[in-house]
Amino acid sequence: MKFIAKKPREGINVSDVHPLAEAATLIVGLTAIFVAIALLLIFLIEVVLYFVPAETEARLFSDWLPEDLVAAGPETRQKQQTQELVARLAKHWAAAPYNFRVEIDDSELANAMALPGGLIVVTQGLLDQVESENELAFVLGHELGHFRNRDHLRALGRGVVISLFFAVVTGNDVAGLGIKTADLTLRGFSREQESRADEFGLAVVHAAYGHVNQASRLFERWDSEQRDSSAFAAYLSTHPQPGDRVQRLRAIAYRDGWRTEGEITPLNWSRD
Ligand SMILES: [Zn+2]
Repeated sequence: MKFIAKKPREGINVSDVHPLAEAATLIVGLTAIFVAIALLLIFLIEVVLYFVPAETEARLFSDWLPEDLVAAGPETRQKQQTQELVARLAKHWAAAPYNFRVEIDDSELANAMALPGGLIVVTQGLLDQVESENELAFVLGHELGHFRNRDHLRALGRGVVISLFFAVVTGNDVAGLGIKTADLTLRGFSREQESRADEFGLAVVHAAYGHVNQASRLFERWDSEQRDSSAFAAYLSTHPQPGDRVQRLRAIAYRDGWRTEGEITPLNWSRD
């Protein structure tokens, strides 16, 4: 019998489904996968928050530093003073489960962040911008507010959450896991988390000084300067817009009857 090669049917490699329909299926499918991953992540973080009390978190991260931290020199005077200021502010949060540590990152770009275990990283750029202790106190008080609400853990990436589980299970600390700041701060905070941190920060400043004078002065300056100044763009990418913030802080002070006049504490420091 002679073999007769049959030509394959025309268009055999072309799906019968309309390409747009196929694209739509793909997009819907991918979106569903991303949503599922995001929900799982949120769930995992809530599980961490439930099972890992702040005391355990503080212990696990007690020696931890972000892998990508570029520490500004050894023990500078600015670091010491910032550390002391944090300690003074934290006294007004009686039940604080953290032993707050301060590190100065040698970056020109103003920023401040709350990281696991009670670590507050402030950049040299931010220290260069503050003009009084009162201005710095509010920035630090705001970060304390994130610890208070454990927002800093809600910002964790999935990889970090898994590492954290691993550390809890094995009882090791997380110092060797090589976690970077970028893993922790990528997902900023919601407007609500920021507002709550501001409320707490202002309350702490009021408790420490007896007034809230200059608490928002740094943001007043940033608001009147060019909005897209690269010097503080990083801070603004993860914090509320300075103008709105000044308004809200004024409203809180007014609501709670806090004095907006009061003695200013100068910063006596130099970059050594
Ligand atoms: Zn914040």
